[in-house]
Amino acid sequence: MMPAMSTELLPVQGALARVEFRRSARARKVSLRIDPAQGGVVITLPPRASRRAGLSLLQTHEAWVAEKLAELPGAIPFVSGAVIPINGEPHVIVPAGSRPGGAWIEDGKIFVSGGQEFLARRVTDHLRRLARQRLTALTAEKAKQAGVAPKSVRVKDTKTRWGSCAPDGTLAFCWRLILAPEFVQDYVVGHEVAHLRHMNHGRNFWALTENLTSHRSAATAWLSVNGQALLRIG
Ligand SMILES: [Zn+2]
Repeated sequence: MMPAMSTELLPVQGALARVEFRRSARARKVSLRIDPAQGGVVITLPPRASRRAGLSLLQTHEAWVAEKLAELPGAIPFVSGAVIPINGEPHVIVPAGSRPGGAWIEDGKIFVSGGQEFLARRVTDHLRRLARQRLTALTAEKAKQAGVAPKSVRVKDTKTRWGSCAPDGTLAFCWRLILAPEFVQDYVVGHEVAHLRHMNHGRNFWALTENLTSHRSAATAWLSVNGQALLRIG
């Protein structure tokens, strides 16, 4: 049984969209509308309609929905109630009022304390921190496996590249990788660590990359479909 309301991140013409399913006792038929405030889609289901009926309506109007969403600024802003992916899993942003702790993750929620005006900033800071921890740990693991040592690992807000390797051995990653599924993070880190040994995209480079990660093709495909959407979160 579906709860009265649920929110999911679903692909709409290649980009992840926030889709809210609402159960309504008064609704006569399945309907769909754009919610500009949340930058998503609201699908209203009458009491006996299935989630699948809602999905099918979404598919029928996919092109229209994608066009309307593209016209909205910032697909998923960091606001109370927004659903954002963390390691590819949906998490809803919940204000935690004056509870201390800054920001923390628990049961599919990201709790954020303090005033609403600082909420977006706190979410961003927390995700950047998580990204740094995770990508640094993954880098250390793969560097050890490859017998190399990065000079340092940085996490930045890059718009065009998910990762890079400087000639001095500094690796840099886009913090938004923390939004992507773990197999995508695994591939991007494996790719950059392989550059510590081969500063090119030659055969030896790819052989080492494939050694360090088994997700090359899946991650490349995922990023080409969903990469742009990650840039529109926050
Ligand atoms: Zn490369």
